[in-house]
Amino acid sequence: MAFKITDACISCGACAAECPVGAISEGDSQYEINPDVCISCGACAATCPVEAPTEE
Ligand code: SF4
Ligand code: SF4
Repeated sequence: MAFKITDACISCGACAAECPVGAISEGDSQYEINPDVCISCGACAATCPVEAPTEE
């Protein structure tokens, strides 16, 4: 089960810097997680100031 970034994302970029596998990239309107790469470590959720990444 991968993590997903909700609409709460304010595109600060903090999670992308913390992801150990590089699964997070800047999308058109907010940051996005590639579910095929995510290992569900939770680092993005722990780093995010608005709790946008959630486990699907
Ligand atoms: Fe990256 Fe871990 Fe977040 Fe998945 S849960 S996107 S591996 S930081
Ligand atoms: Fe969006 Fe949170 Fe990642 Fe910042 S840390 S880019 S608000 S998901």
